[in-house]
Order: sequence, then C-alpha cells, then structure tokens
Amino acid sequence: MGKTAVSIGANTFQFFTRNPRGSRAKAIDVKDVAAFLEYAEQNDISRILAHAPYTLNACSKDERTREFALETMEDDLKRMEYVPGNCYNFHPGSHVGQGATEGIRQIAATLNQILKPGQHTTVLLETMAGKGTEVGRSFEELRAILDLVELPQLMGVCLDTCHVYDAGYDIVNDLDGVLEQFDRVIGLEKLKAIHMNDSKNPFASHKDRHEKIGEGSIGLEAFERIINHPQLQGIPVYLETPNELEGYAAEIRMLRERYRKG
Ligand code: FE
Ligand code: FE
Ligand code: ZN
Repeated sequence: MGKTAVSIGANTFQFFTRNPRGSRAKAIDVKDVAAFLEYAEQNDISRILAHAPYTLNACSKDERTREFALETMEDDLKRMEYVPGNCYNFHPGSHVGQGATEGIRQIAATLNQILKPGQHTTVLLETMAGKGTEVGRSFEELRAILDLVELPQLMGVCLDTCHVYDAGYDIVNDLDGVLEQFDRVIGLEKLKAIHMNDSKNPFASHKDRHEKIGEGSIGLEAFERIINHPQLQGIPVYLETPNELEGYAAEIRMLRERYRKG
C-alpha cells in the first residue's frame, strides 16, 4: 500500500484493518511489517491511518454485536502496535433507538475496555453526518464520549468534511466559525486527521454520500481554504472520494497546486 501511495504522489494513506464486514484479519507477518517500515522511512510515508470496519457498532442494541465491535477493535489495536505512533479511526456507531445518551455510554464503555495505558496508537472518533441514529453527529456528542473515557490522552477526532457539512456545519461559508466551535467544544489539539471528501448532497442533508473534490456541494474553493487554514497546518489529510487510482492522483495534484506553503 505504501508503493501505491507513492505512485500517486501521496505521502500517507488510510487503510481498512480488515474487510468492511469485519471478518478475520490475516496473521501479522513481521517480515512484511519490517519491509513496510523501511519503505515508509525511505519514501517519507508517515502518519498512516487505520480505519475500523464501518459495519462495527459499539452501541448496538444487541449485546453480541457490541461484543463483536469490542473484540475486533481490541484485535486491531494489538496489530497497530506493530506500526507504532499512528492513528486508528472508527465510526462511533448507531444507537438504533436506544437514544444518543445510551449510545454514548456504550461507546465509552467499549473504549474503556480496549484502551491500554502505554499503547502507541491514538484512537479517533469520526465526525458523522447524522444519518439514521448515528452517534457523533455533533461536536457535543463526540465531546460527551471523550468525557466518559478514562484515558482521553489516547483519543482524538477525525473530521470528515462531507460528514460535517451534511451534519450542518457550514465549512463553505463559515470555516472559521466551525473551527472555533470545534475548538470550544472538543479542542483543536484533539483534531488528528481530516477525511477530505466533497458531498453529493446539499448542506445539512444528513446523508453521507461522498463526491469527488470540487464536484459536489462543498466545492474546490472551500477545500483550498481548508488546506491553507493556519489552524489546520500539519494535520494529515486522507481522500475518500469515489475514484480509481488515477482520480486520486489528480486530486492530490490539484490540492498540492492550491497549497500555499508558509
Ligand atoms: Fe469513515
Ligand atoms: Fe470518512
Ligand atoms: Zn462517509
């Protein structure tokens, strides 16, 4: 995956820890890991982002489903220790009618079982669009989860541009205001990753359908402001747009052209 990233002009990448249905992952091959670490070092690849299967639900009504989320994430975090110093992102979950408060409690309970003092991975909550009963539709909901976590220093947030725009945060017309809100509610120091996606749907639609950069309701100018915003410098950006490899290469070129260093 490192080679693919380099071939499209990237210096980082996001990967699923296992197939999205959350089945068993392959055993870790320590030789593979060593080869990756060496390649990453030589090619300036850093801050890779693991994504948990998006089908996991740590706040399902069904206890077995919650346990499955816990076991999978716990196993993923064990594996992440082979590539220390990176982040592991997950969708907080859907409370399926139990209510956000109960959902938040269950998510935090899961985190309190899987976070281990001394681990070398930061676990990220992803900002969600708020479709159905998704938890994490507002900065306040993410804050509420963080408040119940016993090792909050091991936690961070991943901001998905499509999700927050669909959730009703106007990053197109008021990026400063949204960042100010994020800072007030969560703290910008918790912002560890940005998922950069345009949206197929209008503002506050609570839909979550990603679009190619510049072809959706967010638009290229907004992304240009995001990558150049002084408060967002140094935060790694990951594309999750509907593209093949060539499309990603073109988006990376386009964003690099619009990036005003310093
Ligand atoms: Fe995601
Ligand atoms: Fe995302
Ligand atoms: Zn999404």
